Amino acid sequence: MFTRNLLIFTRKTHRWVKPAGHDTGIKVFNCITRTKVPFIVKNKNLVTWYTCGPTVYDSSHIGHASCFVKLDIIQRILRHYFNLNVVTVMNITDIDDKIIARANTSKVSTSELAKKFETEFWKDLDALEVNRPDCVLRVTENMEIIKDFIRKLVDNGKAYKSEDSSVYFDVGAYDNYAKLQNIGEDAPEPSKFKKSKMDFALWKGAKPNEVSWDSPWGKGRPGWHIECSALASHILGPEIDVHAGGIDLRFPHHENEEAQSCARHCKPQWVNYWLHTGHLHLKDSQKMSKSLHNTISISSMLEDVTAPVFRMACLMSHYRSRMEYSNEFLITASKVLKNYTNFIDNCESYLNGYLKAEVNNDTVSKLINESANQIQRALIDDFNTSEVIRTLNELISAVNSILHSSRTDLCNTKSVAIIGASNLVSNTLNIFGINVNKKQSRVCGNYVDVMNILNDFRQEIRQLGISNKDKNVLELCDQVRDNLKNLGITIKDHGKLSSWS
Ligand SMILES: [Zn+2]
Repeated sequence: MFTRNLLIFTRKTHRWVKPAGHDTGIKVFNCITRTKVPFIVKNKNLVTWYTCGPTVYDSSHIGHASCFVKLDIIQRILRHYFNLNVVTVMNITDIDDKIIARANTSKVSTSELAKKFETEFWKDLDALEVNRPDCVLRVTENMEIIKDFIRKLVDNGKAYKSEDSSVYFDVGAYDNYAKLQNIGEDAPEPSKFKKSKMDFALWKGAKPNEVSWDSPWGKGRPGWHIECSALASHILGPEIDVHAGGIDLRFPHHENEEAQSCARHCKPQWVNYWLHTGHLHLKDSQKMSKSLHNTISISSMLEDVTAPVFRMACLMSHYRSRMEYSNEFLITASKVLKNYTNFIDNCESYLNGYLKAEVNNDTVSKLINESANQIQRALIDDFNTSEVIRTLNELISAVNSILHSSRTDLCNTKSVAIIGASNLVSNTLNIFGINVNKKQSRVCGNYVDVMNILNDFRQEIRQLGISNKDKNVLELCDQVRDNLKNLGITIKDHGKLSSWS
């Protein structure tokens, strides 16, 4: 049992160190200063970004989806709007208490279980059209790096081995705790194996028959917080531009990551910018019937909602804001998206002469300039995508009213500014990861018609084959079905009739 003198945690002394480097012109919310501060990266051609990855013990849910889609949107803005070369790293927690518990109840090994849910996680991210990180690091594949990080903390006197064969970070030996979040000013009490209740495990001594790794402190496995510090430091070094995750990770996970990394690197600041996405809440109780552990899995959400509609919903709420998941909100997002494709269609109809209107080029040109400036102001203001969506909606409404109020059959001139407006809308959405390219949507529309014709034709031929008992014809029909299957199109024969999906 440890006893310890009074430790008072207060935020008073904590200061954010403004980094040196390239000022991007963006202002970003900083949880240490609680204000928006200039976003300065060490090197615009090598911006380092670490995201806390999943603990792969279960299916990911829509809360994870909103976090990863929102972070993907910010990464795309940095890359494609601000032209920064962002390198992204993510960890996969493939050993943890929850994984061990679930593997035991499922009677599979921890590695089998982790592999299964990691595969599912990547499938979910792909379905959400989230770019995969440039580099992925799994805990079980990097044990030596993690143990080495812990060893250095023990050598520095910032961590200690306890009677339970675990190693704890000594919060009392570190001056800057409670930097990211105020955790109250009470004196922490000691607990059975720890000097202070606030101390957290870097290495967890193994319980009997538990999967474990050898270490200088006995058999065990890493604590959750240390893996991110060790893996991120290993690949990105002792100073990181951005470290991101959901708001629930700010304390204790990110606080502990910052504490142990500063202690390890002997620096006052490890991460220059912490980005936290707001929570997603369920509003529609009916949705709960499809629940998976009281929430909705990503794959079941994507049965009802397309990835671009969900992304639009994420764009419509600020990344730091709480987002409410409801049918109404998704219907609104879907309408906004539809409004954009209709607008781009309208502009193309105008260009092709189907929609004739007298358009003043200067008026529309002025609208485009104002909108582009407004978009820039919104994006440099802490990635305010909801403001960008509002700006695009206003532009569309203004240009639509010009197109419809000035319709005439006698018009022989065309305003190139209409195409400029259409481009501004599609380019901006492309930056955010939503493709509203008109040609593509038209190909998709035709594709459905072509498939209907092909399916009907095959059905007729097959019926002839059945009536005439012509084996060759039936074999040809099967061949078409199998060839289409390779393209992801399924044809099903129901007696004499056929359908496709
Ligand atoms: Zn982490």
